[in-house]
Amino acid sequence: MQTAEIRRRFLQHFEQRGHTVVPSASLVSPDPSLLFTVAGMVPFIPYLTGREPAPFPRATSVQKCVRTLDIEEVGKTTRHGTFFQMNGNFSFGDYFKEGAIQHAWELVTGPVADGGLGFDPDRIWVTVYLDDDEAAEAWHRIAGLPLERIQRLGKKDNYWHTGADGPGGPCSEIYYDRGPEFGPDGGPLVDTAGDRFLEIWNLVFMQYELTDVRSKEDFRIVGELPKKNIDTGMGLERVAFLLQGVDNMYEIDEVAPVLRRAADLAGVTYGKDHEADVRLRVVADHVRSGLMLIGDGVTPGNEGRGYILRRLLRRAVRSMRLLGVDAASLPELLPVSRDAMGLSYPELVTDFDRISAVAYAEEEAFRRTLTSGTALFDTAVREAKAAGTPALSGEQAFSLHDTYGFPIDVTLEMAAEQGVTVDEAGFRALMQQQRDRARADARAKRTGSVDVLAYRRLLAEHGPTDWQAYSTLRTDSR
Ligand code: ATP
Ligand code: MG
Ligand code: MG
Ligand code: MG
Repeated sequence: MQTAEIRRRFLQHFEQRGHTVVPSASLVSPDPSLLFTVAGMVPFIPYLTGREPAPFPRATSVQKCVRTLDIEEVGKTTRHGTFFQMNGNFSFGDYFKEGAIQHAWELVTGPVADGGLGFDPDRIWVTVYLDDDEAAEAWHRIAGLPLERIQRLGKKDNYWHTGADGPGGPCSEIYYDRGPEFGPDGGPLVDTAGDRFLEIWNLVFMQYELTDVRSKEDFRIVGELPKKNIDTGMGLERVAFLLQGVDNMYEIDEVAPVLRRAADLAGVTYGKDHEADVRLRVVADHVRSGLMLIGDGVTPGNEGRGYILRRLLRRAVRSMRLLGVDAASLPELLPVSRDAMGLSYPELVTDFDRISAVAYAEEEAFRRTLTSGTALFDTAVREAKAAGTPALSGEQAFSLHDTYGFPIDVTLEMAAEQGVTVDEAGFRALMQQQRDRARADARAKRTGSVDVLAYRRLLAEHGPTDWQAYSTLRTDSR
């Protein structure tokens, strides 16, 4: 089943069950506390927290998401993209646990001929929160799941809140058993790597008012919410790879053409060599993320969103280099990604001149410094090894960044390949100093003199905000 068809079926399923279909919001998060939209619920936060009345009692969407948190997993697991699409259904004080479970079960196991996804019910497992007997009972009664396929997990996996005082509650996740060739029996409780029991859908039951929220697992329940909400997220690419009978999300119809083109350019056969395969999957993933981010108006830069886009594009370019392709690759790969995604996002086609100009210019800028930067890197590694301290200094990483445009994770990746580490904290401190200098300069330009106190004040005010914004993305899992 094509990805576009799964998307269509999802929306249709919920539309038929009284949900308003809401178009995807931008990848640039509508919520100011996040750089990117990391989940389907992000555009609905005002309704879920009760800050604004919801204009509809039920909604459904297929939301474009970016999670930089998962960048290290890309290509190594079967299931993590930096860009992916989250199918969701939402209830704002309308149906609750039973409704959410019923709707999900009907779609997952409903016959293909009737608009369902046709998964074999015998291969479905679910998890519920430790004390959530209500959800466990509903799964047993509504779906007829045997009790041994309803497992209980703690707060780390099966509890959701925003990280601040406010609404929260247990969640319940749906897993698909890919079979014994992918790992031992025992269900998601045992398979912590998630290779055999693949998490496809998270149902969040916003049920309680929480206070004293100190961490994911440390908070206090004040009482029940007057209006309970449902927020769910199903990974479109994960469902697609299962239904398309391929091994992972980089091999689905919306991603694989880029992977194949990259393999052709490099003259390698996908599936022959693990290391090359991971690189090809990274390329396919990052090229698509770059396309979607530029499509939503992000441009490469040294801060915030722009920096993340830069990292993705440059990492893709460097991966192509490592695969043996020295010529510019984005002009070969980006149009392929556009063609694969254009069916669902026609604006990528109409806007492609702009999008491609931004991407190609970024590759050119990186290519101009790649050779000299790599030479500097090699020298630094040689010196570090000779000195018996196999670590690159913060200054060296900073100089690679500042002079040669090597994003920190490109440097980290190159260092790891050479078996050396990098003083990341030192690098960040230097980045911060540079930022502060730039701010003080800008201020000096405005006032005509350098005001030392203002510099201090700026430091206090803006301090590590940019890196905080970056680390916000590291807490986006739920
Ligand atoms: P995982 O444990 O596999 O990392 P998660 O628990 O972090 O997933 P949720 O935050 O529960 O994921 O998001 C809801 C759904 O979105 C997941 O069940 C999954 O299907 C999908 N999803 C999450 N992260 C990704 C990703 N990086 N790439 C593709 N799909 C994803
Ligand atoms: Mg999970
Ligand atoms: Mg989850
Ligand atoms: Mg995750």
